[in-house]
Amino acid sequence: MDVDGVLSLFSTPQEKPPIRPDTHFLNVEGVGHLIAMDNCRRLGTLTDVFDLVWATGWEEKANENLLDLVGLPGPLEVIAFKTRRYDHQAHWKLGALEAHSGSRPLAWIDDALDDECRAWAAARTAPTLLIETETAVGLTEADVARLRAWADDLTAATGA
Ligand SMILES: [Mg+2]
Repeated sequence: MDVDGVLSLFSTPQEKPPIRPDTHFLNVEGVGHLIAMDNCRRLGTLTDVFDLVWATGWEEKANENLLDLVGLPGPLEVIAFKTRRYDHQAHWKLGALEAHSGSRPLAWIDDALDDECRAWAAARTAPTLLIETETAVGLTEADVARLRAWADDLTAATGA
């Protein structure tokens, strides 16, 4: 999963700022982030069916700064990216995601999925679910329900 636009909320100057009761201001190396605590809690509930992996430009900083907020005890796996881009198109993550996921089922949560990401997902032979979040809302209860239903179907299909 991604962080910015999933757990950390933001908006463009033209949009309504994502202020809501559960947000917590987090300073990471001098950069402010508005963390949605409900979203963090939701993510933390998925560990019974998913191996949670950070796929974010935050890389190790996600474990260092967000793990307590997500309510998980140990560090999560982190995908390392050789390059990073900040133009709100997530296809720069594809190479590293491909290398990490191989032929395993994958659910990818990100606010910046683009056509290249969708084409990549459609071409995967392993089951693949894309959850595209809104930057000012992030991970919702409906997203979590979709993730659980997808995992349940997969478990039923494979008997695992
Ligand atoms: Mg993002």
